[in-house]
Amino acid sequence: MILQILASGSRGNVTYVEEDGQAILVDVGLSCRETVRRLKMAGRDPQALKGIFITHDHRDHIAGARVMSRTFGLPIIISDTLYSTVKNTVLKDVPEILLYSLGNDIPLKSMNIHPVPVNHDATETVNVVISNGKYTLGIFTDLGTVSLPVKTYAATTNLLVVEANHDLVMLKNGPYPLQVQQRIRSNYGHLSNDQCGKMVVDSCERGHVKEIILAHVSENNNTYHLAYTAVSHYLTEANIDIPLYVATQNQIMPEFYVK
Ligand SMILES: [Zn+2]
Ligand SMILES: [Zn+2]
Repeated sequence: MILQILASGSRGNVTYVEEDGQAILVDVGLSCRETVRRLKMAGRDPQALKGIFITHDHRDHIAGARVMSRTFGLPIIISDTLYSTVKNTVLKDVPEILLYSLGNDIPLKSMNIHPVPVNHDATETVNVVISNGKYTLGIFTDLGTVSLPVKTYAATTNLLVVEANHDLVMLKNGPYPLQVQQRIRSNYGHLSNDQCGKMVVDSCERGHVKEIILAHVSENNNTYHLAYTAVSHYLTEANIDIPLYVATQNQIMPEFYVK
């Protein structure tokens, strides 16, 4: 199974996941044009995609999904609840919808998608665990708090993508008004570097996690270096030696083979 992050952050999130020649995008928060540009830069053919999985209806996850779906005839994989709120707006007239209900997995040939509901202030938000029966990856971003199901599922992954959104001091001294700061910090907002650090240490306990990618790092309330350093510190303190990477807003990441 291959994972490649094409964009990560509050200006747009797109992740490419491929198993056995079959590929989907998890979220299309960039424009269709920019998503296609990045796919091509990564050597991927947009025509060969099999679908777009939508985690939630915040702009940075859904902005380009409609045009992408209509341009390439791609099914949108989305929960019934979320779809009912976006079918006449951001996802109007998409050619095909693959609806699922929370609690059910979505089998796509050799790929099994398991949505994990999380606390976040969209209509409904899921994180996602994708398995090929042998290996498992997880994408955990836009979660206000680390719930027991999040903890449990994150620990089953071999490749863990997890949000390190903000540094608390930078958020406090940063440009955002108090109300926005409170939203980000709340149980319905985003994980701080410290929350992320604790979560990755917990997730590594069972010994399945082999690589970690920090994601959804804020450009205003964090730096890539700070996120890396903060989470590294938690890993070192816990005597965990696992490769740690940081996904960025403007650069596509190399591909990761989940193993
Ligand atoms: Zn987001
Ligand atoms: Zn969000």
